[in-house]
Amino acid sequence: MKKELMDILACPVCRGELELSVEDENEKEIVTGSLYCPKCNEHYPIVDTIPNLLPPDQCP
Ligand SMILES: [Zn+2]
Repeated sequence: MKKELMDILACPVCRGELELSVEDENEKEIVTGSLYCPKCNEHYPIVDTIPNLLPPDQCP
């Protein structure tokens, strides 16, 4: 995901702001990392550039 996406991404549970932590990135975007919601104490993984913002208590 591109870093600019942080402007529009929000926690799916509380709609609060997310904190980004980057593990791996290339010149264009973040490849691996996580998004963290301090209100919900919940981490959302970024895998292969795709942020997974599914609420943790909603199993598909
Ligand atoms: Zn939240």
